[in-house]
Amino acid sequence: MSNRVEIYDTTLRDGSQGLGISFSVLDKLRIAERLDQFGVHYIEGGWPGSNPKDIEFFEEAKRKTFRNARLAAFGATRRKGVTAAGDDQVRLLIDADTPVVTIVGKTWLLHVKEVLQTTADENLAMIEDTIRHLKRHGRFVVYDAEHSFDGYKDEPAYALATLEAAERGGADVVVLCDTNGGSIPGDVAEITRAFRGRLKTTLGIHTHDDIGLGVANALAALDAGATHVQGTINGIGERTGNCNLTSVIPNLAFKYQRDSIPQESLATLKEMSQFVDEIANMRPNPRLPWVGAAAFSHKGGQHVNAVQKLLRSYEHIDPALVGNSRHVLMSELAGKSNIIMKARELGFDVSKETPELNAMLKKVKQLEHDGYEFEAADGSLALLIQRELRHETKPFAVDAYHVSMRSGAKTSVCEATVKVVVGDDHAHTVAEGDGPVNALDGALRSALLKFYPDLASVRLTDYKVRIVNPSSGTAAVTRVLIESSDGASSWTTIGVNPNIIEASLQALVDSLEYGLKRREFIGGAAR
Ligand SMILES: [Zn+2]
Repeated sequence: MSNRVEIYDTTLRDGSQGLGISFSVLDKLRIAERLDQFGVHYIEGGWPGSNPKDIEFFEEAKRKTFRNARLAAFGATRRKGVTAAGDDQVRLLIDADTPVVTIVGKTWLLHVKEVLQTTADENLAMIEDTIRHLKRHGRFVVYDAEHSFDGYKDEPAYALATLEAAERGGADVVVLCDTNGGSIPGDVAEITRAFRGRLKTTLGIHTHDDIGLGVANALAALDAGATHVQGTINGIGERTGNCNLTSVIPNLAFKYQRDSIPQESLATLKEMSQFVDEIANMRPNPRLPWVGAAAFSHKGGQHVNAVQKLLRSYEHIDPALVGNSRHVLMSELAGKSNIIMKARELGFDVSKETPELNAMLKKVKQLEHDGYEFEAADGSLALLIQRELRHETKPFAVDAYHVSMRSGAKTSVCEATVKVVVGDDHAHTVAEGDGPVNALDGALRSALLKFYPDLASVRLTDYKVRIVNPSSGTAAVTRVLIESSDGASSWTTIGVNPNIIEASLQALVDSLEYGLKRREFIGGAAR
């Protein structure tokens, strides 16, 4: 059995169907880039046949170069009674122009008859034709066999015939799917072994977490001969979610001694998890295995040294291996190397000897304590590091501002007045908007454009608000994340304050300051 396991991420497709999750095209691109850096082997970007947003994503993704991952477009087998070439949905898959195409097809005879309302043979032809057609177009084809386990239990010979049809068509990977998430590990292992014995193609597993066994089922299949696993970061997905890759990946590395993603990426697992939560605008789950804030927290450690030794015996691994930390005392050293790593990533020349390092660390810790979260706000972090390193003053400052709202029977209008200081100069502008942040953005922008015409190309592309409780005993604050773009690169900035308008202004000011300096960061924070 191969020791290597391929990681196939479907956060952007199956994951995006989760409750309360809505990714913009830009969100999807950022997650894809991050997944690629992390080292997953496949990124399923979406279903071009299901919505125009996914078509746009694949359009944009064409311009990106992925170093580790191959991009997959997802779809289904052709419709009954048409040729694969004549099926619009299949054509959209080819138009997506991805190296990999994944298609789902029926394994369970009951579904063939009741849902597709076609014959057993036509379903086999639909599978084989579609795959052959995609192969003719040079695609690497992953075949997702829907309801593999339920189908096999009901009609084993037919379930097997569908996978053999996929194999005949030339599928590169065939994936057993526990589509409704109700299987148990013993059955998954047994059925995977049965399929393994009859097929030559690489075998994969796709599970859901409906009964809390998504990860266990995936690992059972991997133990029984599968070498490809599909899932999502943080297990996001329809109903109770998909198989959680944030658990599968470290389990493979540390419990099963199998290779999947590069060793050095494992230490960024927690960051990866937080990144997706931030983009999805979800509160991180502290009880998430491996990466949750509580995963390695211990109560009652007063006398540090002796207790710390003892604590290790209560931990199944060293939390640093997955980028997590023990919650008794925060290690100064870990904090420092984190900042150094981050600063280098953003393009700064920083080492342990950099004199400003301590001040920088102190500042970041204080801000994070106050509710800032820099994981997905690298624009603000880049500015903070630069300010500390170069001891520069800000290029402009908001001296005063005023926001008001008038509401009538039919319309409401917000008006913002901003006084901006740039060196010895200042500007005073007024703008209207359909909301307070919009008005503020307009006023700030028109004040600054006089001094910095280059800012004209900078646009606000996304705005996210979350209420956070920075630490116990403090009142809740509002955290605002703003994403901006100049068409070529994009960056995210953050503001935190009890007042939503003040928090938004902070994020706006950072966004525009970053916009002014963006060329200094190219190759760093700007992407
Ligand atoms: Zn699924």
